[in-house]
Amino acid sequence: MDRAKLHRIYRYTIDWLYPNVCPCCGKYIDHDADFCTECKNEITLYSGNDTVSGADGFAAYCVYDEHIKGSILAFKKERCGNSYYAFACGIAEAVSKSPFAGNIDIIVPIPSSKKSMKERGYNQTELIAKELRFLLGVPSCNILVKTKDTKVQKRLGMRERAENVSGAFALNVRTPEFPDKRLLVIDDVCTTGSTLSEAARVLKEAGAGKVYTAAFAKTEYKN
Ligand SMILES: [Zn+2]
Repeated sequence: MDRAKLHRIYRYTIDWLYPNVCPCCGKYIDHDADFCTECKNEITLYSGNDTVSGADGFAAYCVYDEHIKGSILAFKKERCGNSYYAFACGIAEAVSKSPFAGNIDIIVPIPSSKKSMKERGYNQTELIAKELRFLLGVPSCNILVKTKDTKVQKRLGMRERAENVSGAFALNVRTPEFPDKRLLVIDDVCTTGSTLSEAARVLKEAGAGKVYTAAFAKTEYKN
């Protein structure tokens, strides 16, 4: 049985145990749906042309606005139902429309700090990556680890954000080498791109062929 089929069975079983709900409004939805129809219609799709310094491409699904904000904040705080599946669907759609569609060998989630792993017990971006690998049909691997506890980026300016994440990532010694592979680094939200950029820098230095980047939501950043 192929992995995509297994994943559909997995989603169906999960739905039976924990019924799928819309990450925005909490309404019950089909086991393979991402949002309810009403909330989906309210989502502002991302149509910008932002770039991530040092990366070979960037894609995002939607604009980080008041409508989507609540679902992302809830997801960051708790293991919230099936929201990570919905976010993976969004990233998969954004990637499928990007110039690098079909050109990815490995998905790499942005790692969490040890502190937030301890508090939450999971890395939310890794949960998205685990769903995304079935949607894109490529493996995911935790190639990066976080080596310093960075400050919350929210109130920092562009330069401060870059300084804050500088040197924040290192290679996971337990992962295999990836010479010339085409990597897709993912995060839930992208603001200035400094986190994705720092990840791209580390991966390129380690010999990655291409480093593409994607986020579920892109904030409209005003410096
Ligand atoms: Zn909804």
